Amino acid sequence: MKNCTLSGILLLFSLALQAQTTVNRDPAIAQLVADVSADSLRSHVTNLVSFGTRHTMSSATPKRGLSAARQWTLGKFQHYAKQSGGRLTAQIDSWTLQPDGRRIDAVTQMGNVMATLKGTDPNDDRIFLVSGHIDSRVSDVMNRTADAPGANDDGSGTAAVIELCRVMSKVPFPATIIFVAVCGEEQGLLGANHLAQRAKDEKWNLEALLNNDIMGSNHSPDTHITDNTRVRVFSEGLPGYQTDSLAANIRQYGLENDGKSRQLARYTKEVGERYVDQLEVVMVYRNDRFLRGGDHTPFVTRGFPAVRITEMNENFAHQHQDLRTQDGVEYGDYVKFMDFDYLRKNTAMNLAVLANLAKAPSMPQNVTVEARSLTNSTSLFWQAPKAGNSANRKIKGYYVLMRETHWPFWQKKFYTEKVGLTLPYSKDNYFFAVQAVSEDGNESLPVIPRPGLR
Ligand SMILES: [Zn+2]
Repeated sequence: MKNCTLSGILLLFSLALQAQTTVNRDPAIAQLVADVSADSLRSHVTNLVSFGTRHTMSSATPKRGLSAARQWTLGKFQHYAKQSGGRLTAQIDSWTLQPDGRRIDAVTQMGNVMATLKGTDPNDDRIFLVSGHIDSRVSDVMNRTADAPGANDDGSGTAAVIELCRVMSKVPFPATIIFVAVCGEEQGLLGANHLAQRAKDEKWNLEALLNNDIMGSNHSPDTHITDNTRVRVFSEGLPGYQTDSLAANIRQYGLENDGKSRQLARYTKEVGERYVDQLEVVMVYRNDRFLRGGDHTPFVTRGFPAVRITEMNENFAHQHQDLRTQDGVEYGDYVKFMDFDYLRKNTAMNLAVLANLAKAPSMPQNVTVEARSLTNSTSLFWQAPKAGNSANRKIKGYYVLMRETHWPFWQKKFYTEKVGLTLPYSKDNYFFAVQAVSEDGNESLPVIPRPGLR
């Protein structure tokens, strides 16, 4: 793409409009995607399972229990830090919990294992988070002694986080990426609550959280479906934060399907499918599954864009179960029930999204749709992003995205190098959004315009 002439680029864009299957991959991201390894993921999951149980209240011993598993994970991050030229740092963010009358009944040492890949652009304060939960459980959520392998729930998400850190820490990104194995998910999203509150208190410019929980197995016994070509991304359509104060605006403009988390889910689908072959990212228009919770929710409720990534066909005999065979069914969350090529694709999908976001400029500012006159065309204007134009990175231009009001995904993409565009399509009949684009073609998250005057 870099050496293409402008007319060549325009031709590509016009072809892209006609054939939605046109794929333009940033070769640097494609290389990283190719580095994600099913063998390393298997090794990470097997190591996590070797600690017997990773229950949040398991005893701290050198070889068994959550404390040992946390130290092992920290060791992996510290090892990757050595290859990062000082950009990656690792630590355990720890705190102590008192019994809470719910799922914590003893004084408990908590700890989120975090690796921070510092962005190289000092003018870019954006943070992107990717998480899995390191703790595991059996049938009784308070049982801290029984073997709880937690291979898929959530060894899969934790292994993905470790693998992403391994691959991504080798190269610089302008914005910061944080890889985190959170604790206490099964005891009530405790580690994620702690981290989300910290992000809020410390005013992180957190633009996305990808929460990976149960994403490495492809078979559902009750529906007899085996499918390793689809993965779900759950997202909330309304903002989970200040919903009441934003409600009038949402009602007036029909924005109930365009909250920040929903936008992130659309972006995840588009970019994930662009880079990973034989993987469809299926958007589910709800925050989570029935009867279940997830670590993205504490972020959603504090106003951060956050989604949950989960396999297509869950096997409930392999989650939260005492290890046993009953009526001919083997219960338990074992490594042998996993599909590591599927986990590789799902991890690579995360990588593509994180890398594309971290290389992109920040979002365009003050995006406005002209709403002063009755016309059948649409004029949009905006200001350049805060981050993305500096000594060694440049903003190439902008995409204006468009879709019919009843359509789930963006349908058309218009490219411009200006900070405004008029299109012969009525603002009454379509939704629009604007993304900033880097020289390598990496797009920011889209911004929905506010009605206003130029
Ligand atoms: Zn889980």
